[in-house]
Amino acid sequence: YEHRHRSQSQSYQGNNVAGKVQDDVNNNPEVQEYIIDRGTKTTYLKGKFLGKGGFARCYEMTDLTTNVVYAGKIIPKSRLAKPHQKEKIAREVDLHSKLDHSNVVKFHHYFEDDNNVYIVLENCTRKSLVHVLKHRRTLTEPEVRYYMVHLVYGCRYVHSQKVIHRDLKLGNMLLNEEMQVKIGDLGLATRVEATTNRKITICGTPNYIAPEVLNKEGHGYEADFWAIGCIMYALLVGRPPFETATLKDTYARISANRYTLPSYLSSSARSLIIQLLNPDPSLRPTLDATLQHPFFSSGLLPKSLPGSCCTHQPKFP
Ligand code: ADP
Repeated sequence: YEHRHRSQSQSYQGNNVAGKVQDDVNNNPEVQEYIIDRGTKTTYLKGKFLGKGGFARCYEMTDLTTNVVYAGKIIPKSRLAKPHQKEKIAREVDLHSKLDHSNVVKFHHYFEDDNNVYIVLENCTRKSLVHVLKHRRTLTEPEVRYYMVHLVYGCRYVHSQKVIHRDLKLGNMLLNEEMQVKIGDLGLATRVEATTNRKITICGTPNYIAPEVLNKEGHGYEADFWAIGCIMYALLVGRPPFETATLKDTYARISANRYTLPSYLSSSARSLIIQLLNPDPSLRPTLDATLQHPFFSSGLLPKSLPGSCCTHQPKFP
């Protein structure tokens, strides 16, 4: 009956909806149009498909009691068959649910039903800096100051909670409607234990992997500083600093600290990139020191950015 009812309503609403429903049926037959959290007796309406990650497919999810639209990560339990996969999700939920900062994606709720696990998050309507860079290729230095300050604020908060993100990258820098930066995806994050303040092991491959992590020398907060340097470079230059055709060559470049700085970069931008990409983690500037760097005072630092910056270069006065 459910199926007949759905196909009937499709024909009223036209091809788009039919296409979407077909997409769901093809890719994830378990996922229903209405999702019910039996624990809190909340019904969510599943909406637009937002993107897919390692385990999850992400959809708009509207809480029908409040009409608030969230981003829901839906993870089929069939993909969590192995104990370490369950543990990975449990750790992500445990770490993320305790974080509360304007530059970190807000964790709203977690629940499960027979088929799926649901992680309900603040909806970031303007997607991520990957999408911005796709349209823009490179950004202006005032914009990069803006994004970097927000990224550093968010990261400083995460570190203050004794958590290392370990996978900071453009795709994990989400943007809400107001163009505020929200750090997301705590899937590779770890808590720094009280006894040892270095974490040795990591499961998964970070995008902007630091040399000390490659060399298995341990993984501290400084690995996030490295990734922030890679992000700054990518935003200004349009490609990551150590990018090559193969992972092997990229790792060789990271180990050799071999990257080029285009001549159009300002001297203060170069200087900050060089400091953050220091091969010796103990010599990288802390986040507070990063914010004190002349790069942030050498030119305009916008208080906000218009949404048009996602696709068009802004004209600053
Ligand atoms: P995974 O942890 O499985 O890799 P991600 O966190 O990367 O999943 O999410 C997959 C995709 O869903 C992202 O690329 C992004 O496009 C979208 N997405 C994730 N979180 C949000 C959010 N809070 N708001 C809007 N879109 C999101």
